[in-house]
Amino acid sequence: MSIDLDTSLRDVLGKASAAGLANKLDLHTVGDLVRHYPRRYVSRDALTPIAELTVGEHATLVARVEKATVRPMRNRPGKLMTVVIRDDHGGRLSCTFFNPQKLAHLITPGRRALFAGKVSRFREELQLTHPEFDPLDEGEDVRPFVSVYPAAVKFGSEVVARCVRHVLDLLDDPTDPLPAYIRRAERLPELGRALRRIHVPETEADYRAARARLIWDEALGVQLALALRRQQSLERPAVACPPKPAGLLDGFDAALPFTLTEGQREVGAEIAADLARELPMNRLVQGDVGAGKTVVALRAMLQVVDGGRQAAMLAPTEVLAAQHARSLRTLLGPFGRAGELGSAERATRVTLLTGSLSTAARRQALLDAQSGAAGIVVGTHALIQDRVEFADLGLVVVDEQHRFGVEQRDVLRGRGERTPHLLVMTATPIPRTVAMTVYGDLEVSALRELPRGRSPISTTVVPAGEKPAWLQRVWRRIHEEVEAGHQAYIVCPRVGGDATKRGGAPEDEDAELIDLADPDIGAEADDGAARRPPLAVLDVAPGLAEGPLAGLRLGVLHGKLPPEEKDAVMRSFDAGELDVLVATTVIEVGVDVPNATGMVILDADRFGLSQLHQLRGRVGRGSAPGVCLLVTDAPAGTRARERLAAVAGTSDGFELARLDLELRREGDVLGAMQAGRRSGLRLLSLLRHEEIISTARGYATDLVAGDPGLAGHPALRELVDEIVGEGQAEYLSKV
Ligand code: ADP
Ligand code: MG
Repeated sequence: MSIDLDTSLRDVLGKASAAGLANKLDLHTVGDLVRHYPRRYVSRDALTPIAELTVGEHATLVARVEKATVRPMRNRPGKLMTVVIRDDHGGRLSCTFFNPQKLAHLITPGRRALFAGKVSRFREELQLTHPEFDPLDEGEDVRPFVSVYPAAVKFGSEVVARCVRHVLDLLDDPTDPLPAYIRRAERLPELGRALRRIHVPETEADYRAARARLIWDEALGVQLALALRRQQSLERPAVACPPKPAGLLDGFDAALPFTLTEGQREVGAEIAADLARELPMNRLVQGDVGAGKTVVALRAMLQVVDGGRQAAMLAPTEVLAAQHARSLRTLLGPFGRAGELGSAERATRVTLLTGSLSTAARRQALLDAQSGAAGIVVGTHALIQDRVEFADLGLVVVDEQHRFGVEQRDVLRGRGERTPHLLVMTATPIPRTVAMTVYGDLEVSALRELPRGRSPISTTVVPAGEKPAWLQRVWRRIHEEVEAGHQAYIVCPRVGGDATKRGGAPEDEDAELIDLADPDIGAEADDGAARRPPLAVLDVAPGLAEGPLAGLRLGVLHGKLPPEEKDAVMRSFDAGELDVLVATTVIEVGVDVPNATGMVILDADRFGLSQLHQLRGRVGRGSAPGVCLLVTDAPAGTRARERLAAVAGTSDGFELARLDLELRREGDVLGAMQAGRRSGLRLLSLLRHEEIISTARGYATDLVAGDPGLAGHPALRELVDEIVGEGQAEYLSKV
């Protein structure tokens, strides 16, 4: 029988095995199964004879079950299984398993298995307590390594191993998609060999080489997908908007009340050059909180307006969109009041277009966008999704890029005959490998310095669990800030006020506000103890108002408020009519109230590192120094406390981004690349494979340049599909 990677496992394996793989492990084709790699290998050499075990060591051993007995536990509910095992050298050892229901049918006399765990002593005898247990096939004994697979209950590693070997025996080596010159240059084994060796290695060098090769496939697949995207986005030209002498931008620059930082000038020049070309700009500007990205974006928009076209600015939330519209109008002054009394000669108009406008206002805004009366339209991403009509959209600015995925960028590029130029801005610094993958379709520039006169923010961890008195000092500090004429934020992970008390994740229902790139927010507690639900705005605010913050003017802001109310609260905080804002992460991005100097983050350990960094960037935006207090119940010495110490210890967003990446499940970062399909990314790591990713990027760019659409490389096209998901086929076929 001849099979290939697309062959259904039902045609190759027995019914029960195929059903098990499909139902328990979601593996359906031969390709799925051969890409289901072992999670580790156990070398025969590393096995310890029972006779040589010592207390406290972590041992891995192969032995046969001699006897297994189950009895109820003495002092508590549940059952205990005692198993006596014996190895090939005649050594005997007892193992205990708690509540062995799921294992009992596997641990039967005569069964050979791998046992791994820490050796302890119980009544003068050595034993293993609840060890890892992987049943073995008799046949596996002759192999130098035992491959241990991700498996499922009642469908163990050894069953998977047997299925894999069966399939590999029938499978001819698949066509190798990697061009031979790359294989040679990078010293990579052929695909067929790599697939066999990753499952059945003879030596350690074997599986290392096999892994290296398969990692390469993943890196190249990702980079090819991105190269194809870049290529495709260049195909529909944009309209060139060269700077216009004595235009609106020049007038604005001349009236600017501050001098641009060097970074703002440099990035501004890059953007100006991009906009002057017919090639669509695809640029990401990253700059720490407060670096002054808005004015950079505004100058780009003015160049486009000078070119007779419109610009749209998208924010992640309505609150932010409204605020952007306000601050753009303020920055523009008379240049933003076209058609009004006292406007400048070459003025334009800023129009806010959000779902919460009244019907009449919305109709007018739509009209302004459509007629071209609005040079600048500010809204949320709905602006693009709802297909608002523009007279002549020349530039789209997306603020806070990390909430804006690859697909949305494509929707933007996919409108109209001409592609609008695209400028995205983020305050979350992006490590190099992330820039080369998740944002790999963009050119990246950085604003590294902050405008002069920016005040420092001091960050302190407040261990409320150990030092309750410190919490009193926190509230006193807030009073002091207010007495000095300043304002403060109190941030909680949850909104609250309903019955849904979920485990750990901040459940800001305003879904677009949840930072998908921060999955560690919802991670289990380090110490494994059941945790109380995170503090909620609606529970905390009344307590503060009557207790420690009595006498101050408190406002409440969260995503569940109706949009008008959100806007009203924000406005009165901005106007200084409120002293303290108790809020969720709604305020995380972009909120700019220079008079706010204090921030207290409650349950700070429930937030991601980059998120904390973003949050504290909300204070110290004026001339007075900011203070950020990270309140936590996490005990000293836990990982949670280390993370908070890291945030307190550095104001370098780039360093925190790197740390965040280390703590994060990387799959979630790369997952952003996918259009909802199961990923072919299994081995690639953004932390460990920077070199490979960067080299693969070079090859991918050359390959796509030499063979647009990869028409001459069908195997590489398949690789892209397999690695990045089938949605990608669309990009290939469009070329
Ligand atoms: P972010 O990069 O976080 O979006 P903003 O664009 O909101 O930062 O800028 C923060 C504040 O700094 C704003 O009040 C803005 O007007 C001000 N600002 C921007 N550039 C400069 C500059 N070159 N000199 C002084 N202040 C500036
Ligand atoms: Mg901003």
